[in-house]
Amino acid sequence: MATVAFIGAGPGAADLITVRGAQWLARADVVLADALIDPALRQWAAQAHWIDVGKRGFGQATAQAVIHALLLHHAARCQRVVRLKGGDPSVFGRLEEELAVVRAAGHDTVVVPGVTAALAAAADAQRPLTRRGRGRSVALTTAMTREHTLAAGRHTDTEVFYMAGKQLPALARQLLDVGWAASTPVAVVSRAGWPDVIHTQHTVDTLAQASVLHRGRPTVVLVGVGAQALQATPSSGAPLRERARCAAPAQTAEAPI
Ligand code: SAH
Repeated sequence: MATVAFIGAGPGAADLITVRGAQWLARADVVLADALIDPALRQWAAQAHWIDVGKRGFGQATAQAVIHALLLHHAARCQRVVRLKGGDPSVFGRLEEELAVVRAAGHDTVVVPGVTAALAAAADAQRPLTRRGRGRSVALTTAMTREHTLAAGRHTDTEVFYMAGKQLPALARQLLDVGWAASTPVAVVSRAGWPDVIHTQHTVDTLAQASVLHRGRPTVVLVGVGAQALQATPSSGAPLRERARCAAPAQTAEAPI
């Protein structure tokens, strides 16, 4: 019997994987990796047989069945199989089905969390998802139903939409329909976690303009309080009697004119 580890690779550059995830990779016999995963992650598992199970070019259903078959095939022959998933495996990652298939065959399973796209986007845009007193709840929502229709709602103070990048004008219309004000702040972040991340700031009524800026890139859309730009509040903080580890830079005298 094998152990199959479902590992979150994070949404972008290889250094966003967790230490635990990297340690699992270092012990893997086989790695079944999603598309969009940084090829630099291969350095952590140079000993393993890597299989790219990206779904591009397949029908979704066929691809998922093939992934199940590959998981079972390798788990029957190897001791440590890693299923490497973009972001966090528990967020829009078909983890439920894959866990069930592997467990039904009697294998042990482990899940290692990863940085989901919403969190990487909040970090890159420097938009804290919760705000004290105002932003008390956050939802991770897929804008796409199983039938591939767009479905947006308003459930929390901040809502982060996955899988909406191709339909931003339609998303904007639905957000208005379900009661978000036209002036609600919206942050759009594509390729969060990568060096070429793009972050743009909008309101619900100008969201459609983001389409061309983020075209062809994995994108999340932050709507509500957590998408708001920070207000500048200059303060030097409370008085401290704390020895500093580092010296303040010497004041350079201004050159006489
Ligand atoms: N398990 C993944 C989500 C998979 S669903 C996670 O936890 O992040 C795929 C969707 O995730 C994409 O359509 C996009 O909306 C979002 N996504 C994935 N990587 C992203 C990235 N680097 N930047 C922005 N959005 C991303």
